[in-house]
Amino acid sequence: MANLTALRDHNTAAVLGRIRAADEISRVELALATGLTAQAISKIVQRLAAEGLIAPAGRVPSAGGKPRTLLRLVPQARWVVGVQLHRHGSTLVLVDLAGRIVDATATRFDPSGATPQQTLDLIAAQVEAVIAELPRERVLGVGVACPGPLDQRTGVLHQVTGLPGWNGIPLRAELAARLGLPVFLDKDTTAGVLSRPGAPDRAFVYLGDGLGAGLVLGGRVQRGARTNAGEFGHQVIDPRGPRCACGNHGCLEALCRAALADGDRGRAADLLGEGIANLVRLLDLAQVVLAGDAVLADPDLFRDRIGAVVRERLPDPGWQQVGVTVTDAGEQVVALGAAGLVLGTLFGESDADGPDAAGLAVQAPAAQYPE
Ligand SMILES: [Zn+2]
Repeated sequence: MANLTALRDHNTAAVLGRIRAADEISRVELALATGLTAQAISKIVQRLAAEGLIAPAGRVPSAGGKPRTLLRLVPQARWVVGVQLHRHGSTLVLVDLAGRIVDATATRFDPSGATPQQTLDLIAAQVEAVIAELPRERVLGVGVACPGPLDQRTGVLHQVTGLPGWNGIPLRAELAARLGLPVFLDKDTTAGVLSRPGAPDRAFVYLGDGLGAGLVLGGRVQRGARTNAGEFGHQVIDPRGPRCACGNHGCLEALCRAALADGDRGRAADLLGEGIANLVRLLDLAQVVLAGDAVLADPDLFRDRIGAVVRERLPDPGWQQVGVTVTDAGEQVVALGAAGLVLGTLFGESDADGPDAAGLAVQAPAAQYPE
């Protein structure tokens, strides 16, 4: 906790972010890249080395002077936990500073069959289990992603579909109190878009229990006025269509689910393609990453058919190139993104003016720091 707070100052995060992005880098290059003075760099590097976060990586000759020492990140110096809480259970990942998953667990349970307090106790126990072997002071925090609507800034859940008992639960504070670690909360789809580096204008489209999208535009994650942007599945495509869980008729989500229930993945993919083509045209996206159980059941079909529909709908597809891919993080993608909520604060991606160099364009997410 003190650890994370101490490292969260702007310049330290910027330097650490550069070291991670560069693999190996000298102090001189760091000064050039960050605009900081040599003295400032020297001080920060000294502090990061003392914390064990960076280490010398060797020396390179420099013109006329003494050889330059290269610096590198020590990925296993700290750890973060990412948690996805969904309607059928939870997925946890333990992630190192380089963003690599080193441990993962998935548990199936029915959160609607327990009280929120019982489920939070269970999640806390799962987090404790995954960090049991680690020195606790090296665990930076826990990122939690779950279905919306929720308030990312206050860490309070709202009317989560299918989980009425969770309305008003201050999940972030409750979990932070149980664990004594900083906790970050965000919507599952917003976490998903932060799971991997990507294009500055991109969407993450998740077809699982529901259908939602996470958005990064101009290198910045987009959460909207109440941090609930991305309710992509509830655009009404056919007002005379089947009733949706949200109460409306003919939402894209309801149509996709009906196609899947009929065993017609091709139709589900084509419908999803129409929705994604609309999104691409509205926002001029360069990249769409697909995820979720339904997509992972037949990734090639979804990628190919959605790519084809998008190309068909765009007026100039040769120029308006859109990369449509399926996530390489499989069922762990949202938990990995949740871990990214914590990592983003360490590497300068919470910088309001900063670029989305690592894909983790986290806008100063509020963490709950336990007393
Ligand atoms: Zn709906």
